[in-house]
Amino acid sequence: MDTEHASPFRSAQPGFRWDGVAHMPYKQDGSAPFKDISRQVLFDDPALACQLRYFEMDAGGHSTLERHEHAHAVMILRGHGHCLVDGEVRAVGPQDLISIPAWAWHQFRATRGESFGFLCMVNHLRDKPQIPTEEELAALRAHPAIRAFLNDTPLD
Ligand code: MN
Repeated sequence: MDTEHASPFRSAQPGFRWDGVAHMPYKQDGSAPFKDISRQVLFDDPALACQLRYFEMDAGGHSTLERHEHAHAVMILRGHGHCLVDGEVRAVGPQDLISIPAWAWHQFRATRGESFGFLCMVNHLRDKPQIPTEEELAALRAHPAIRAFLNDTPLD
């Protein structure tokens, strides 16, 4: 984005879209670790050293189960779903805040039969996410609440 000449104002459009913001559905095939999710980068100004993104999942969709050194700050904007952070699964909804610390396994799932969208702030410079090994996934699945979450049958 040409930040020097761009207007400071970009209007919201229906359906959680914004003027001048590219809507990027994630490519997926049978082996993709995510499902029915899109990304829009709302703010990406080098002066801020962070990005603010809006992610949205269709009903039944989910983000990648991953961890990394960088942290996330998340606010749910639309819909209801479940979130795993570092061994804890919670039902979350609009305006809820979620802090995802370094190296915490995390995933968002649209478990309530509706579109589920959230803002996610992240450092502009960041490490690449890791996905769990078979052993790490088995260790996560040993927890009943996490197993139910991963099976899209959350306990609450
Ligand atoms: Mn992440």
